[in-house]
Amino acid sequence: MFKQSKSKNKNKKGLEVLNITKQFRFSFAHKLPNHPGACNNLHGHSGKLEVTVYAVGGPSPLTGMIMDFSELEAIVKDNVIDLLDHKYLNDILFNPTVEALVIWVISQLEKELPPHIRIRRIRFWEEIDSACAEWEESK
Ligand SMILES: [Zn+2]
Repeated sequence: MFKQSKSKNKNKKGLEVLNITKQFRFSFAHKLPNHPGACNNLHGHSGKLEVTVYAVGGPSPLTGMIMDFSELEAIVKDNVIDLLDHKYLNDILFNPTVEALVIWVISQLEKELPPHIRIRRIRFWEEIDSACAEWEESK
């Protein structure tokens, strides 16, 4: 059993360090028009996206959850994965680097997540076992 904290605010703040994370795999094609080498040519990747969120004030006292995983999955699928998977990403962004895609993912999710759910971290792997760009909320 957890001991009750004497400071309610301190306890609440502590719960905000709790995160939940979902991972998604997908395939895409792109070319990087400003790249000096081979990435300037059309090519494909098997990528991975990792979305980490937290709830302002911590998990719901009713459900004990930050957010239902299935709800997070549906939001990410509808607003990100369905637009990336087996798509030509230069149709979305002129220069779809993983760095630019991370920023795009944030803009897609921020408008759809419930108001009390915030993005802690986004990681976008160009290939699942190698190159990754990451955005993390500054403390
Ligand atoms: Zn590439």
